[in-house]
Amino acid sequence: MSAPVLEARGLTVRRGGVQVLEIPALELLPGTVLALIGPNGSGKTTLLKTLASLQDPAAGVLSFQGRPLDSRPAREAYRQRVTMVFQEPLLFDTTVAHNLEAGLKLHGIAAPQRARRVLAVARQFGIEALLGRQARKLSGGEAQRTSLARAFALEPEILFLDEPFSKLDPPTREALLADLGAALRQTATTAVLATHDRMEALQLADRLAVMHQGRIKQIGTGTEVVNQPVDEFVAEFVGMETLLPGVVTASGLGLCQVSVGGRTVEAVGSAGLGEAVLLGVRPENVTLATHAESGSSARNSFPGTVTRIAPRGPYFKVELDCGFWISAFVTPHSLEELALAPGRQVVATFKATAVHLILRK
Ligand code: ADP
Repeated sequence: MSAPVLEARGLTVRRGGVQVLEIPALELLPGTVLALIGPNGSGKTTLLKTLASLQDPAAGVLSFQGRPLDSRPAREAYRQRVTMVFQEPLLFDTTVAHNLEAGLKLHGIAAPQRARRVLAVARQFGIEALLGRQARKLSGGEAQRTSLARAFALEPEILFLDEPFSKLDPPTREALLADLGAALRQTATTAVLATHDRMEALQLADRLAVMHQGRIKQIGTGTEVVNQPVDEFVAEFVGMETLLPGVVTASGLGLCQVSVGGRTVEAVGSAGLGEAVLLGVRPENVTLATHAESGSSARNSFPGTVTRIAPRGPYFKVELDCGFWISAFVTPHSLEELALAPGRQVVATFKATAVHLILRK
């Protein structure tokens, strides 16, 4: 495996006498995108700025390409080789072309090469037609495109992105997310993205670090974090909406039986008899029917009563009381077909493999 581009060891940051960040170890591998996700105030921006050396930690060491950034000249040289894109595009009051070129001039890049890079990034981010426009008169989406293009023009060793889409409307955000994803892949740029939006993180990042109260609770691929959250906080943050407290009543051959609200739920995994666990089930993995299906390979089938229905994007979220609370996503078509409404009796079905077992500490 390749050596990390950036390594952090024993980082702590204090604000007003309070410790707001504690990161024992973190590594950033070349050509990969790491997303820092978590709710507001969890420390994403603080970690991002500390990794970019825009602020000094109270303790700890950053190493860039194997060398510790333990002196002011080392940190200054590092800052020349990385770049940051902020939530608000900070553009100079001049043309888009000048904005794209300004940093390259500062880096001593010769004029013909500057012109080539400006054109390449303008094409990459679809802003060629805007090159002659005044940057401060652009729409929010165009300004953020310019800001991203400017960052890519610098060909940074690490690109830091702080909530770059949070001020954009959904269609603009979708388009820019796709273009940023393509640019990151094509250039194999190493990047760290701070976002509170897990969908953004899943779309762009190779690895996700879930933050809570200044610490990384879990780090892993999108699939690992979404399907195997390590605790209740991560499970809730990644959308595992049903979290059922239960007690293990049988365990063996990689399968557990867990007593939940007087019912027995089967889950893939192992845990000790009598152990207190949480069972996580994603609403997209629960199907609803009017009768129990026969011959289904699903292990868990429970009759229940619909308690609430609410729209959720293109789907509906249906909440049920099956002796325990559970939610399911259904399409508008299924909602109609099953005549779902509060009070309706249905059967909720989910596979044992769709149940994630979290040991309670
Ligand atoms: P996030 O980016 O996840 O929203 P931040 O990194 O901005 O989180 O904040 C992490 C914690 O540090 C929060 O508790 C916040 O209140 C605190 N904090 C951040 N900046 C300052 C500051 N300049 N002064 C005091 N506290 C701060």
